[in-house]
Amino acid sequence: MANTINKVCVIGAGTMGAGIAAQVANAGVPVLLLDIVPKEGDNRNAIAEGAVAKMLKTQPAPFMSKRAAKLVETGNIEDHLDKVAECDWVVEAIIERLDIKQSLYEKLEAVRKPGTAVSSNTSTIPLAQLTDGRSDQFKQDFLITHFFNPPRYMRLIEIVAGPDSNADTVAMVSEFVDRKLGKSVVDAEDSPGFIANRVGTFWIQQAVNAAFEQGVTVEEADEIGGRPMGVPKTGIFGLIDLIGIDLMPHLMKSLTSTLPKDDPYQAIARSEPLIETMIEEGYTGRKGKGGFYRINREGGGKVKEAKNLQTGEYAPARGSRLVRGSAAKGDLGKLISQEGKVGEYAWAVLGPTLSYAAMIVPEATKTIVGVDDAMKLGYNWKFGPFEMIDNIGVATLVERLEADGLPVPEMLKVADGRPFYRVEGGKRQYLGTDGGYHDIVRPEGVLKLEDIKLSSEPLLANSSAALWDVGDGVVALEFTGKMNALDEQVMKLIKKAVPLVQKNYKALVVYNEGSNFSAGANLGLAMFALNIAAWSEVEKLVKGGQDAYKALKYAPFPVVSAPFGMALGGGCEICLNSDAIQAHAETYIGLVETGVGIIPGWGGCGEMLSRWINNPKYPKGPMPAVSKVFEIVSTATVAKSAAEAKEYGFLRHDDGVTMNRDRLLFDAKQRALAMVDGYAAPEKPEYRLPGPSGAAALQLAVDSFHKQGKATDHDVTVAGELARVLTGGDTDPTEITTEADLLKLEVEGFMRLCRNPKSQARVEHMLETGKPLRN
Ligand code: NAD
Repeated sequence: MANTINKVCVIGAGTMGAGIAAQVANAGVPVLLLDIVPKEGDNRNAIAEGAVAKMLKTQPAPFMSKRAAKLVETGNIEDHLDKVAECDWVVEAIIERLDIKQSLYEKLEAVRKPGTAVSSNTSTIPLAQLTDGRSDQFKQDFLITHFFNPPRYMRLIEIVAGPDSNADTVAMVSEFVDRKLGKSVVDAEDSPGFIANRVGTFWIQQAVNAAFEQGVTVEEADEIGGRPMGVPKTGIFGLIDLIGIDLMPHLMKSLTSTLPKDDPYQAIARSEPLIETMIEEGYTGRKGKGGFYRINREGGGKVKEAKNLQTGEYAPARGSRLVRGSAAKGDLGKLISQEGKVGEYAWAVLGPTLSYAAMIVPEATKTIVGVDDAMKLGYNWKFGPFEMIDNIGVATLVERLEADGLPVPEMLKVADGRPFYRVEGGKRQYLGTDGGYHDIVRPEGVLKLEDIKLSSEPLLANSSAALWDVGDGVVALEFTGKMNALDEQVMKLIKKAVPLVQKNYKALVVYNEGSNFSAGANLGLAMFALNIAAWSEVEKLVKGGQDAYKALKYAPFPVVSAPFGMALGGGCEICLNSDAIQAHAETYIGLVETGVGIIPGWGGCGEMLSRWINNPKYPKGPMPAVSKVFEIVSTATVAKSAAEAKEYGFLRHDDGVTMNRDRLLFDAKQRALAMVDGYAAPEKPEYRLPGPSGAAALQLAVDSFHKQGKATDHDVTVAGELARVLTGGDTDPTEITTEADLLKLEVEGFMRLCRNPKSQARVEHMLETGKPLRN
């Protein structure tokens, strides 16, 4: 057996196989992608090649960078199957047919090196059937790796090992998908539908049945069954539209045929005539003519319509506001007991679904944590079923299940009124099937602020930020405001943090566990100041931010930023001012200030210039770097991955990238610690910039965009201010521009734009609509 996976082969270049191959390539690992030889045409590799070409045009993109796509080698199973011998792991992701999968395994057995891991991406076929007839060696090397669609973005992977699977092989593949592919592994048993789809299919079916039975509309069902339950805002019908309505009968068929006859799913599985008609007529959801919702563009308009489940007619969708009080904010006990429609529907969905989820432990997965993780990572639920049960209360749930004559599963009896999770001695614990509580143990290399918070208090905290001791002499600076927006409080905390860290600690990481790293400066506050023309306040905020970020930059200890998700504007600038960045692979970083009519004001301009000037692969001299930064910042470019961020220079080439979100804090901390010995703060940069002649050249380019209609009047104004900063103001290449000069230019340009009503209109529009105003 190989110890590590250096090359992967994916067989089947359909939706899943192609996506899995892309994610392997995203990890920087070469991958061979094979499919069948097409019946027509001369190109025997056309299917795999076509899959890669299609992925390069797909949004959201399966590849993190164009460079990754080059790591995919394409071929077909007739001419290239022997190349499997070069690979350490073969992933089978072909059509869901047992006979075809078995015949492929037979061929694979002849060409692969013994010890090469082989896994299937099957959603429904038991492992025992897949390996039937294969050699003992093959059975030892075989497992199921069930990815979710799309493989780059869905974090869950369910791994099923068979009774014969070699534990080291399973561990090697698990480790690879966790660290390299960034997936969260949930161990599943070899039972039908595994975990997430088993609960998910039950839930969807139950929600659809109840809506038809109770006369609840599509919009009402999605209001009650969406946000209040911590389910993505699509709710249930919106989700079916997204998955494809035509997929529902397939899921149902495969589960009813594999689950035992007395499984509760069998009793609720049915198809509604209305839904069958929709599928026949091509109303299969977003990919079809429409679904439970559609956008009606008749007469040039754009009206969101919803299907009436009783008549089958479409009518303009009506936002419903039925859920009241704390029930709307996630109090599930209140939700299921609200009078009338809301309580009735919520209970009809939650009661049987939570009971079912509790029933599948330990048959589908050994612990309740497996079920909760699967639903959170595979269906994007905010809370797992057992967390929801704790929210309602075990005793209350049991009482209601009994009153309705619904089954009370063993796990609920084991709980015997106790919660499924508790915190004991600063550790989160779960209830095992043995009736005892057990610590939730994180894998090695996983460090979560969420856990640290259970056993400690922040070193510093205010309304927008906090500072935590994350062990080994490292502290973490956490943003805590709405959307992790940055304001004066964040800057104040940074200024207090610097002397504290200098005295008692070794290094600082900028990290948090919100949905996004930071959306940038708090625009709401800025708008308030602009509205009352409090110019000195605005200027104070800009200068205060510059001071705080530079205090971090020149602090006598290493600072590592660990962005993930969106890191925009000021969120990007704090990264730029750090000694190093350890980014999650899914980081969307950029200086987006021009979109709201301003320019970066917290040192982003100078830091970006430094990065491009010092890029050894880029032409020397002031103008190429200035032009490049101008192009990136004037167009408010946002990188769509950490890999792309390196191409734009938001990340340096030697900055680190962590594929698994759960490993980000640990990796950032290690990076910071590695810099401690012999650390010296960076020298202050000095620039030689082109001055007004350079600004004029940039202006010419913008004018040409303006003439072509690609830039608005105000775009020209904003770009003019940006050009002035980036070219160093009134200077020329014989003079030295200091960092302080650039910071001063940033403030001046920023303040001129703030006073401009058109910039103010942009800020206001962004606050109201979330979209940029093209004025
Ligand atoms: P798909 O229909 O998009 O692709 C299947 C591919 O397999 C096609 O390109 C086909 O040409 C190829 N193929 C068929 N027979 C082959 C053979 N003998 N050798 C090589 N290639 C062959 O299917 P998909 O949705 O990507 O599903 C693939 C597997 O992943 C199935 O087992 C499915 O159950 C599972 N799965 C699918 C999803 C999903 O959401 N689509 C999610 C998880 C798992």
